[in-house]
Amino acid sequence: MDAEAKRIDLYVDGAYTGAASGERIEDVNPATGDVIGHIARGSAVDVAAAVEAASRARASDWGATSPADRAHILDVAASLIEANLDELAQLESQDTGKPVSLARTIDIPRAVANFRFFASAIRQESLAAHPMPVALNYTQRRPLGVVALITPWNLPLYLLSWKTAPALAMGNTIVAKPSELTPQTATRLAGLLTEAGLPPGVFNLLHGYGPEVGAPLTEHPQVAGISFTGGTATGALVAAAAAPRFKKLSLELGGKNATIVFGDADLEAAVDGAVRAGFANQGEICLCGSRVLVQREIFDDFVDRYVAKVKTLVVGPPDDESTVIGALVSAAHRDKVESYVRLAREEGGTVLHGGGRPELPARWARGAFLEPAVVVGLDPSCRAASEEIFGPVVTIHPFDSDDQAIAIANGVQYGLSASVWTQNLRRAHRVSEALDVGMVWVNTWLLRDLRVPFGGVKDSGVGREGGRYSMEFFSESKNICVHLGEPI
Ligand code: NAD
Repeated sequence: MDAEAKRIDLYVDGAYTGAASGERIEDVNPATGDVIGHIARGSAVDVAAAVEAASRARASDWGATSPADRAHILDVAASLIEANLDELAQLESQDTGKPVSLARTIDIPRAVANFRFFASAIRQESLAAHPMPVALNYTQRRPLGVVALITPWNLPLYLLSWKTAPALAMGNTIVAKPSELTPQTATRLAGLLTEAGLPPGVFNLLHGYGPEVGAPLTEHPQVAGISFTGGTATGALVAAAAAPRFKKLSLELGGKNATIVFGDADLEAAVDGAVRAGFANQGEICLCGSRVLVQREIFDDFVDRYVAKVKTLVVGPPDDESTVIGALVSAAHRDKVESYVRLAREEGGTVLHGGGRPELPARWARGAFLEPAVVVGLDPSCRAASEEIFGPVVTIHPFDSDDQAIAIANGVQYGLSASVWTQNLRRAHRVSEALDVGMVWVNTWLLRDLRVPFGGVKDSGVGREGGRYSMEFFSESKNICVHLGEPI
């Protein structure tokens, strides 16, 4: 055990606490292999305590507080996250292996923005009225009650805040369960929310393994809604747990997104965009464009430029400002990604660059680093080109016609997002409309407006997050019809 390793506790009813079992899981920094913390290993007993606390907080009328009061707490929480930005960025980088610079400029600022956005949204919310000649209908939005928020390891605070802020804004109480690989920023958030003025029990946090904590949480009869972001196979388990009690459910799952580059695209911009889409956050973003489809007439030129650009991406220590690609989230995940590089070769692909382990100084020798890999020569239907790898591996495929590009893009089980690169406006619209995905970017990638619907189709999930979509998810509409004439 490392001398500096810290205790990472649950947060229940306004206080940090160990797990009922007394057991702990090691928190490993994937860039160094060091054990940096000992995480309380939750179980069904802790789930029961956390749901009980959340139910009490609900009964003590958190949901009846005014939108202005809730908005104020969200704004203070945003400011507290901002005030602790450097520390949170360090924690995020330690847990995930991502560059600190990335956490400082994307992950943590986005968490701040999420709280501010939903503070503003709830202040400005107006509700519907449907007048009749003899009556007035007005629609209320009531909180669901206790909601479970379950999140993955790739964007830990970013994704947790994306659920927490709207859930609180709509008056729910929360039991959150972050990934066992990345517990630190969620743990810090719990204390900051209390500091921001959140009453005890409104935000509770559980740590531990999915089957031991996530499963009993999703099955708990007092949990009214579940917002889950993670893998498709886990999403299916969550859906099965939710179904018998008709819990409200939002599932944001995996992706195998296409970047489609037409011959008429601005080539330089397309190469830059496709490289960013492929390798941002080590390729560990559900929206990453891990399949690049390129019109045959520019294929060779594109591939040359693409590989040249990928070679400039610095793989290295997360705390080095020049690093673009840090460590993958764990040694086990790197093993999985490497197995896909092997598979790509077995399936007939040629690895034009990367796929090996970089030579780094001794301090980082046990880290889960991997050179970004670029593969060509694969049939788009083979496993390496159609299964989610969730790492720095991109396959590039030629196509001849618009219809063929659309068919390849749609030919996978997933339907999360796509990006289309063309200067032809008609083509941009036609292709975008034909893609079976929830989100399309044209001549850009991951340009986010927090108001727009976020989510996927097919095996990429059910439901939408973002702006009013999140607010609708975290509430139930209730219509009240008041008869205005003589009693009937
Ligand atoms: P995962 O499915 O393994 O785990 C996600 C969370 O679910 C973790 O907190 C885990 O402990 C918990 N969990 C595991 N088993 C559970 C169970 N039986 N019941 C309830 N909870 C359980 O996913 P991951 O490996 O942490 O994350 C990577 C995946 O997340 C990728 O597939 C990626 O595409 C997806 N993802 C999707 C989005 C999106 O918005 N669509 C965003 C980020 C990541």
